Amino acid sequence: MPSHEVVLLLETDPHRGLSGDEAARRLERYGRNVLPAAGGDGVLRRVLRQFHHPLIYVLLAAAVVTAVLDEYVDSAVIFGVVLINAAIGYVQESKAESALDSLRSMVRTEARVVRDGQERKLSSDELVPGDLIVLEAGDKVPVDLRLVRLAELRVDESALTGESVPVTKDEAELPDVTEVADRRNMVYSGTLVTAGSGAGIAVATGAQTELGQIHRLVGAAETLATPLTRKLARFSKVLTVAILVLAGLTFGVGVLRGQDATETFTAAIALAVGAIPEGLPAAVTITLAIGVTRMARRRAVIRRLPAIETLGSTTVICSDKTGTLTENQMTVRAVWTPDGEFTVTGSGYQPEGEILDGSGAPAGEATSRALRWSLLAGAGCNDARLREEDGEWILAGDPTEGAMLVVAGKGGVDRERFEEGCPRTATIPFSSERQYMATLHGERDSGREVVLVKGGVERVLSMCRTEMGAHGDHRPLDAQAVTRAAEELAGRGLRVLATAVRPAGESAGFGEEDLSGTLSLTGLQAMLDPPRSAAGSAVRACHTAGIGVKMITGDHAATATAIATHLALLGEDRAGRVLTGRDLEALPAERFPEAVDRAAVFARVSPEQKLRLVETLQQRGHVVAVTGDGVNDAPALRQADIGIAMARTGTEVAKEAADMVLTDDDFATIEAAVEEGRGVFDNLTKFIVWTLPTNLGEGLVIFVAIVLGATLPLLPTQILWINMTTAVLLGLMLAFEPKEAGIMRRPPRDPGRALLTGALVVRIVLVAALLVVGTWWLFQWERDRGASVAEARTAALNVFVVVETFYLFSCRSLIHSAWHVGIFANRWILAGVAIQALAQLAITYLPVMNGIFDTAPIGGDVWLRILAVAVVAAAVVAIDKRLRRRLM
Ligand code: ADP
Ligand code: MG
Repeated sequence: MPSHEVVLLLETDPHRGLSGDEAARRLERYGRNVLPAAGGDGVLRRVLRQFHHPLIYVLLAAAVVTAVLDEYVDSAVIFGVVLINAAIGYVQESKAESALDSLRSMVRTEARVVRDGQERKLSSDELVPGDLIVLEAGDKVPVDLRLVRLAELRVDESALTGESVPVTKDEAELPDVTEVADRRNMVYSGTLVTAGSGAGIAVATGAQTELGQIHRLVGAAETLATPLTRKLARFSKVLTVAILVLAGLTFGVGVLRGQDATETFTAAIALAVGAIPEGLPAAVTITLAIGVTRMARRRAVIRRLPAIETLGSTTVICSDKTGTLTENQMTVRAVWTPDGEFTVTGSGYQPEGEILDGSGAPAGEATSRALRWSLLAGAGCNDARLREEDGEWILAGDPTEGAMLVVAGKGGVDRERFEEGCPRTATIPFSSERQYMATLHGERDSGREVVLVKGGVERVLSMCRTEMGAHGDHRPLDAQAVTRAAEELAGRGLRVLATAVRPAGESAGFGEEDLSGTLSLTGLQAMLDPPRSAAGSAVRACHTAGIGVKMITGDHAATATAIATHLALLGEDRAGRVLTGRDLEALPAERFPEAVDRAAVFARVSPEQKLRLVETLQQRGHVVAVTGDGVNDAPALRQADIGIAMARTGTEVAKEAADMVLTDDDFATIEAAVEEGRGVFDNLTKFIVWTLPTNLGEGLVIFVAIVLGATLPLLPTQILWINMTTAVLLGLMLAFEPKEAGIMRRPPRDPGRALLTGALVVRIVLVAALLVVGTWWLFQWERDRGASVAEARTAALNVFVVVETFYLFSCRSLIHSAWHVGIFANRWILAGVAIQALAQLAITYLPVMNGIFDTAPIGGDVWLRILAVAVVAAAVVAIDKRLRRRLM
């Protein structure tokens, strides 16, 4: 259909859009613009998945065989453990998933929509059929649209058609039968605008869109897997096989030696359930989920779970300047023209302030034609909108353009009035590669054409042949004077844009080539974009943590250097630390990597160069975090180990490509996220170091009994009790451990390094050995004293739990002593210990529990011996730690 018919059919207006009231009515009628939920796995599948674990198979087999042997109570206990384990797993998994889901909704997709003639940003789920929607490079298309206006619009439709080459769009009518992929006058929900701009009428929303119909969600559902969880899964598989082989051997050898079959079988099961770290998968999931939540609280939203791990080992952060290191609150402070410089008062987007000439007098309309044309170019070649709301001025669009609108207003240039007399007829949109924007206007009265240009100084200068004098005269360009002025302004940390117009009489045509050599420079506009207050200290914190910070910007080298100096990103020694895009081009290949590693500021860098910088740093062994906001940044974001996008100013394309999104766009948030990432990794390591000695110890205790042909000091059910209760009540509490004080004074973790260092492996074996010796010693002591087997086993069981409890406090820091961290700092641990103590009293003294677990009450003197074992073990661990600290 021709677009005007679509407009009629949908009862809307191609310029003013729908009215707010009508939109509300339609929202009621058509529903929100959301895709039906991803579906995911059904409850049954998810429940069954909890049992799909090699470790669980072993337990289930053990339960069945125990039942066959008529040991019904034991069988029931094992089954009970499996069920409890599955329940915990199920709850944890759902919780972690819904946490991730809600995080995802924190970063909402926004769309530009025109209603009542006003352009505004709305959450994309509020769009309705008939809405007039404005698209720009970097947007994710929010609904299916019939285009009504466009300029060089190119759209990546791979989400819909699988075709990865962007499609050029067109407004013209098409034949009735046209494949989706060929419908050039339509753009579809879920596709990405890679270049140009346009506007269109929403014809389908939500499930009605093409995307909704084929029901293929962009960005498949996230899994909870990370490199670490995969590594652990592999580890537990190997462990299971090893345990099964060992248990089978035990059984075989026992039977061959003529021991009682039932007894040897019980021993084999005890060995198997003891050596399996049941709590490990749950602990990993919970620790990661807590990490994600903590980061979200500090305004860093994780989109891909592996990023949490990678964050902790980041060695270089490549940040862009505008908006991340600076506020992105632009104010034009000075306007330079070939015949003199003007200063501007006022700040922010408030239209209050004046333009003053060199003598401090207000510059009137007649003061300088060049000034006036510079302001006109800034305001006319401009897509930003300013709107007053409750006395506050709100910008929709690029802050750079917002600032140019404001300064034009201060100088008495009104865009609306200009556009009435001189409407825009064509646009060359701004892109980071092009570094300028140009608009073509046709004067209503005379039919004369006006070309307005604004952009980076070097770029605009290269297209100019003349410059404008104070009286509107065009004279030969003094490029050196302009460059000198630009350098001087940029040296003050100001962001400088040049403006130009095409003098009457120059050749016509409005292509990129047509402009070159025809323009007349009208002036330079210099704007202040204050550095973010927290960025300086965050940069210093990164340096202390052994993390390099590099600024990669499309802006002028002098501006970048001034801001970098202010943020302590550049020290005293500047040699080779500031490189421009041109320097990078000129570098010979063999010197490139080293030069990149040394530099801290990269200015006038194109998106392709940004990608190359990231690759180079990675080749040098760095783990690289990269921020980006534009469409062109997407390749670099994907290449980076951690791609970081900005929630406020970032394009949807960048967010889609990123692993992490900063809701406040602030550099300091990256530093906070790295800190949390290190904390998560610490806590995971702590849990593993805490839990493994128990399993190793239990396995060894049983193994020794079998080798000696002695009575088992622990029964399978008792071992399950130890594993389950301590994992949940004690071990999991380590996930709530606050970050250690010196966490940002350590160098980054080498991602290639094993999870457990040699020292930690030694500690695990040491604690396991202490458990074995302690248990056997006490078990024998009680037996020699004439205690029953049940009493001696109860003592052995309590040895395990008490030693683990003491050891838990030691594990709160892998390096420092338990005292150093502060015994009371983690209340979760105190609560866990209290409940564990009650549980131990219950299993020792409650007759019901005695019946189920074959335990028996023990006397106070036995408790004293148990405590003695635990104290000795704790002392040995403390000495080990102290020796290690000495060595470091
Ligand atoms: P950064 O975000 O790193 O500051 P950009 O790629 O946004 O860099 O901008 C690079 C240069 O392009 C700027 O220094 C400026 O000269 C120019 N520029 C930026 N925004 C616009 C715009 N909206 N219109 C024209 N030129 C622009
Ligand atoms: Mg930018």
